[in-house]
Amino acid sequence: MVSRKISLLLAAVFLVPFVLSAQEHNASKPKPRVIMIGVNGMELDIIRPLILKGDMPNLARVIENGAYGKLRTVSGPNCPRVYSTLFTSTKPEEHGVTGFLVGGITANTHMLKEEPIWSMLSKQGITVGMANVPATFPVMPVNGYMISGMLTRGKNCEDGVLCAPKLSEVTGGDAVYPRAMKDELLKNVGDFYIDCERMPSAADLKGHEAEVINQWLAKVQTIRDQQTKLFDYLLASHPTNFTFLAQSCEDRTGHWLYPITPFNVGYNASINSIRQDAFPNQYVAFDKVLGTILKHADENTYVVIVSDHGIKPLREFEEKDPHAHADHEKTTPVIAKHDFADGDDVPGSVFIMGPGIKRDFRLMGLDASVYDIAPTLLHIYSIEQPKQMRGRVLSEIFEGQARDSKVAASN
Ligand SMILES: [Zn+2]
Repeated sequence: MVSRKISLLLAAVFLVPFVLSAQEHNASKPKPRVIMIGVNGMELDIIRPLILKGDMPNLARVIENGAYGKLRTVSGPNCPRVYSTLFTSTKPEEHGVTGFLVGGITANTHMLKEEPIWSMLSKQGITVGMANVPATFPVMPVNGYMISGMLTRGKNCEDGVLCAPKLSEVTGGDAVYPRAMKDELLKNVGDFYIDCERMPSAADLKGHEAEVINQWLAKVQTIRDQQTKLFDYLLASHPTNFTFLAQSCEDRTGHWLYPITPFNVGYNASINSIRQDAFPNQYVAFDKVLGTILKHADENTYVVIVSDHGIKPLREFEEKDPHAHADHEKTTPVIAKHDFADGDDVPGSVFIMGPGIKRDFRLMGLDASVYDIAPTLLHIYSIEQPKQMRGRVLSEIFEGQARDSKVAASN
């Protein structure tokens, strides 16, 4: 009851009319434009060879023209937990979205106890557009639009956990803000899938491995094509100062099709020898999505690519728990994961280019963290960092600036 009261109170705080405070902001100065792309579970071990081979030319362009590095993530990282940290620069136990399930209930935006970045930007008169970002269901009002992502519930995806309802089949809350935009999207983009396909179960796979794997990968590509069409449409028809788009099929693929060797934990030749190219191909496909998005960015646009964590093969010697081999309480035979107790084993990553950002600059070690993204975005918009934020502005990526003396957030 108490937490319900708190969440209602916070909802009221988040909903302060945007227009009033927008007038306080300097209206004559053009507002920076930021396009942020979230990639769930981008694994640097996989993408580095692809960049060397020239298979990710768009990401290579961002690296060459900007700053990049690893991002220290939180302990036991998963998408809702880390994305909510990205949104708020607070610890999971502070913002409340500690995992896929919180107290046995699928995480949702009513659980968010700290103010997210989209609310702060909206209040300052900055236009905000978001699509497919994890843990944004039901959608919240912004000074623009919001289309939900991972954890959206609907037909064949009743719990909302790691599955894909179609836009027309969403239940239990709104997937689009403002509501009227839903019909516009259905008309102009089609009835797209939200988030990404559920992984097949061990029973589905048995005896039909190659067929199930290939069908699943084809569905994943269909979903990615739909999302690309959505992003292209939104960037062309609804440009906003801050746009945040996310991808989730890469991580989903890595969990059960990571290119492991027969020496790795969980290796099953009937599954794992079939499509060793499946997981790397996801990043090649992502790079094409990035190419579409970059067509909407000019030299005055900040492009920020962020990953919440990496993903690594299982390690039996420290994973005695039998549940460690079945992801997110489902039955899929997973062979790679990211919710290791030591988040430093699976760091996220950031790639950023734009006006005043150093070129070909590398962030070393794990000095930058997922807590630093929101403060850095606020800095771009000249908005002061609120006290509750634990991260720091990544000042060292800006021309003429050195590293901020503030101590990085602890894990
Ligand atoms: Zn995952």
